[in-house]
Amino acid sequence: MTARANSESNICPLCGHINHCAMEIERESGIKQTEPCWCTAVKFDADLLDRVPPEKRNLACICAACATRSVASKGL
Ligand SMILES: [Zn+2]
Repeated sequence: MTARANSESNICPLCGHINHCAMEIERESGIKQTEPCWCTAVKFDADLLDRVPPEKRNLACICAACATRSVASKGL
């Protein structure tokens, strides 16, 4: 088993910035995060997920900026 770079899971596959997913922070640091991750409150729509390269799917979280930008562009 080849250890994939863990650091990639906290990089947004769409914009390349840190996604700040609390669940990732918790996993990496081992420190329980007190606030629920923003991603639990955001809807990731199919269009947005479609833009994630196949090799990055299910590996990295999309960041808050990309998620909210997608929602905003739909006028919600
Ligand atoms: Zn992003």
